Amino acid sequence: MTQAIIIGSGIGGLAAAIRLARQGINVAVYESADKAGGKVSQLNFDGFRFDAGPSLLTLPELVHELLDDDLRFPIRRLEVITKYFYPDGTHVLAYSDVEKFSAEVGQKLDIPSSKVVNYLKKAAKVYELTSDLFIFGSFHRIKNLMNFKSLKTLIQFRHLQALNTLHEYNRQELSNGHLVQLFDRYATYNGSNPYQTPATLSVISHLEHNLGAFIPEGGMFQITDSLYQQAIRLGVKFHFNQPVLKVETAKNQVSGVIIDTGFATADIVVSDIDIHRFYSSLLPDKKRLARITKEERSSSALIFYWGMKGIFPELDIHNIFFSSDYQDEFEHLFRQKDLFNDPTVYIYISSKYNPTDAPEGCENWFVMINAPADVGQNWHELIAQSRQRILEKLERMSGKKLSGSIVSEQILSPPDIFKQTGSVNGSLYGSSSNSRYASFNRHANFRSDINGLYFVGGSVHPGGGIPLCLSSANIVAKLVNEQLQKQKK
Ligand SMILES: Cc1cc2nc3c(=O)[nH]c(=O)nc-3n(C[C@H](O)[C@H](O)[C@H](O)COP(=O)(O)OP(=O)(O)OC[C@H]3O[C@@H](n4cnc5c(N)ncnc54)[C@H](O)[C@@H]3O)c2cc1C
Repeated sequence: MTQAIIIGSGIGGLAAAIRLARQGINVAVYESADKAGGKVSQLNFDGFRFDAGPSLLTLPELVHELLDDDLRFPIRRLEVITKYFYPDGTHVLAYSDVEKFSAEVGQKLDIPSSKVVNYLKKAAKVYELTSDLFIFGSFHRIKNLMNFKSLKTLIQFRHLQALNTLHEYNRQELSNGHLVQLFDRYATYNGSNPYQTPATLSVISHLEHNLGAFIPEGGMFQITDSLYQQAIRLGVKFHFNQPVLKVETAKNQVSGVIIDTGFATADIVVSDIDIHRFYSSLLPDKKRLARITKEERSSSALIFYWGMKGIFPELDIHNIFFSSDYQDEFEHLFRQKDLFNDPTVYIYISSKYNPTDAPEGCENWFVMINAPADVGQNWHELIAQSRQRILEKLERMSGKKLSGSIVSEQILSPPDIFKQTGSVNGSLYGSSSNSRYASFNRHANFRSDINGLYFVGGSVHPGGGIPLCLSSANIVAKLVNEQLQKQKK
């Protein structure tokens, strides 16, 4: 029987394990942590439950298609995706329904509501043109490039807006400063800078607004927990607290991995770890590492998990308190590698939907600001400074005294993200999409010169975020199947 080893049990690794096991392959997962899930994890303390990492799900069908019927869990489409608060006192509700959202924008921002409808129509077109090649397929294979759909994408290249930055495009299409800031924010969904990233990233707004934003019952952790249960059911063997130290190859073929207890043989090895770490430690390769480090790292995050006494009806599940100068904020994140003095603050309160996530009369606030990748900044100082600034900002914008309401607290910083998941510099999404060529430079899901070696997860093609990681596993499963069929012949 074919033996596969998966390195890491993040969402990409779990999805790959399920798909390979379903092909009748013997699958073992080696994970350096003591549990599965990687960044999609949860925290429980003082009666509060928090989703520790991701808080918003798009394309939920990519999760459900991996699960047996009885392991599927209810997922709700959000009616209000995000509540936006601007420094001048304006509030905008981003309704899931496009017409309703456009009407809200028309009323609150005094611009024709057709602007948003047209923008989202164009974003849908970008998705139609790019999804097969850039999200669900691998353009690293010649045969995928030589088909009718790829040709159509090439011919309609101008619709992709790849030569403008997202901010330039948004300014041209939406004109209103508040609306531009709202749509610029989508660059942060893969840790990028809207003033640098190509406007093709407007496709993210299509996923959220046209296809929907979702929350699973039981929180985001339900996703990895159910995938883990499914993998166990399919006979996948998990080895926790077992980091893979090296990947071994012989004559252009992967032969297995080295762990602290010795050598484990494999015909197929799938890496779900940060590709930067893979080439710096597991299969050292200076040339490939140099190519990877040429792309700027994506941003990281600083998160305060606050158990709050009180119920705050003015807040929704997802809330954004914008900064007064977005461009300066990104200048600090990507150029100066520090934190802006008026950061955009994101608050996710899952207890609004899952009341058991907080004790009665309380809420669980996941308070996050974008942070630069870790390059040795003084995090102790930055955390203290940011906590103060966030509280002052929220108190100023809400008119409420909040510091006394925090009854429990834990903090996650960029160095913690590196320690917990091995993501180099604590970057949430591997490399950023800050250059026009970023998606072309992202590592492929396979090595054409090493048979049996594959890659999934947020730092390789098609990129970071739950749906893309799940897609990487699907691409790899197809490639493995092709490899095995070829070997049979
Ligand atoms: C704070 C935060 C907020 C986010 N918000 C969202 C969101 O709202 N929506 C969204 O879609 N995405 C979001 N993301 C991104 C999303 O979480 C990631 O893109 C995705 O979970 C990455 O999965 P992965 O498969 O790359 O593996 P990871 O989650 O990176 O896991 C890799 C695993 O490999 C293990 N490992 C590392 N080295 C070794 C080794 N040598 N041997 C064995 N095991 C090893 C690690 O312990 C870890 O378990 C967020 C991420 C964070 C951190």
